[in-house]
Amino acid sequence: MALLELSGVHVHYGMIEAVKGISLSVGDGEIVTLIGGNGAGKTTTLKTISGLKRTSKGRIRFKEKDIGSVPAHRIVEMGIGHAPEGRRIFARMSVRENLEMGLYAAGRQTAKSTEAFDRVYALFPILQERKAQAGGTLSGGQQQMLAIGRALMTTPTILMLDEPSMGLAPNLVERIFEIILEINKQGTTVLLIEQNAHMALSIASRGYVIESGRIVLEDSARALLGNDQVRKAYLGEE
Ligand code: ATP
Repeated sequence: MALLELSGVHVHYGMIEAVKGISLSVGDGEIVTLIGGNGAGKTTTLKTISGLKRTSKGRIRFKEKDIGSVPAHRIVEMGIGHAPEGRRIFARMSVRENLEMGLYAAGRQTAKSTEAFDRVYALFPILQERKAQAGGTLSGGQQQMLAIGRALMTTPTILMLDEPSMGLAPNLVERIFEIILEINKQGTTVLLIEQNAHMALSIASRGYVIESGRIVLEDSARALLGNDQVRKAYLGEE
């Protein structure tokens, strides 16, 4: 039984249909990636899982419960963490306060907070060093770490990451992907959206290719890395 399952999900922005009948599943403990170009519908899919957008048709199940009409704050409490596109950190709040927002979002009691802080600071020691600094003064890579850290503070069963490599230098991209692997090894399931298909497929077990709101390919990450269509369109190979 899948941990998370989308069946025939459609999502609209007014008259525009951004997601056109997507079905996908994520098993407990997996890293699954959604790859696709600009405007393919990846971000909309994650927002819909989080309850920030609603389906116009189709079903979303998490831990065997239908979550299609569950409010976003309840979805966080149920165990879906989301590090959104563009990081969305609170620039004037300190690093520590940004992380606390994750705790509040999940309605966690203080008893759990030490554990959550310890985990995040062990994964991202720089956040502990800079805990009193305003979020907005961090570098791009550190802000990405803070966005991931804030999502982890909710102690999610599944962590959804929207373009964690965006705007980062190659060495930092590698570091972020190593940390995603580490988070997964600690037992957190990961659903990862990426334009950097090569990096995403190198850590994922399975992947889906989305074009114009539809899934056009699904396979093991290894098979997708060797797929001609994927190599040409997403890996920049001839
Ligand atoms: P990107 O990597 O550029 O974010 P994406 O695959 O995440 O791409 P989405 O952001 O989900 O794609 O966008 C899917 C489609 O929905 C696009 O055609 C986009 O123009 C449209 N769209 C996204 N957000 C809105 C919005 N707020 N209002 C209207 N249309 C939108």
